[in-house]
Amino acid sequence: MKISSHPFPFIVLEGIDGSGKSTLLKGVQKYLEDKRVPFYITAEPTDLEYGKRIRRILDHGGRDEDGNKVAAEDLQRLYILDRLNHRKSEGEFLKTMAVISDRDWESTLAYAMAFGVNPRWVIDEHARLASEAGIELFFSNLTLIVDITPEEALRRQKAMGKILDYFESDIAKRGKLREAYLSLPAVLRQLLPDIPFNIKVIDGMRPPEEVLQSVLLHLEPLLIR
Ligand code: ADP
Repeated sequence: MKISSHPFPFIVLEGIDGSGKSTLLKGVQKYLEDKRVPFYITAEPTDLEYGKRIRRILDHGGRDEDGNKVAAEDLQRLYILDRLNHRKSEGEFLKTMAVISDRDWESTLAYAMAFGVNPRWVIDEHARLASEAGIELFFSNLTLIVDITPEEALRRQKAMGKILDYFESDIAKRGKLREAYLSLPAVLRQLLPDIPFNIKVIDGMRPPEEVLQSVLLHLEPLLIR
């Protein structure tokens, strides 16, 4: 496993639901269009086979079609399988333009930790399934974690009238997820010391324009050459 060595950067936005990722992506999109930088924006989970299965489970309170609770590892494995499908198309785009993804494997790592799954298992499972499928696994050139409190995330989602899934309505779980995200740089340094991850935490509690400006500060050196 290595950092993407494609000609164009692979950039990932992470953070708890309601942290402002979609809002930021719209701002980034407008900025790149104005600068005439070719880019491709994508998201996980995808609309492919495993992504659809994940959404069905989330919409059914974490249960499968037979009503059985899906174990934390089994759910995370579906995200990994969805990602491997996604990697095939992402890799192609990275040959011709920058790719910016709303979530990537850092989500799997953070959610797994919030559910009490060992992050080492997540890394090993990625490697195992990627090698089984013969798919190249690569990491982002830059990951931006948008950090806000779970209370503020909930407030924003309620204000926009969002119907919350079983995870989103659990404020304690969301707090754990936030902590897991904040611990990612240290966890990765410990578990994968040879990989030079580039992870920055962005304060998402500020007004949208200010958050966008701090994101652009990190993106510009990679995208405007
Ligand atoms: P995510 O994609 O991370 O789930 P969204 O971008 O959909 O989050 O944001 C959730 C809600 O919060 C939206 O209604 C959005 O307009 C609002 N919002 C996003 N960023 C900010 C911000 N910096 N300050 C206040 N409200 C915000």
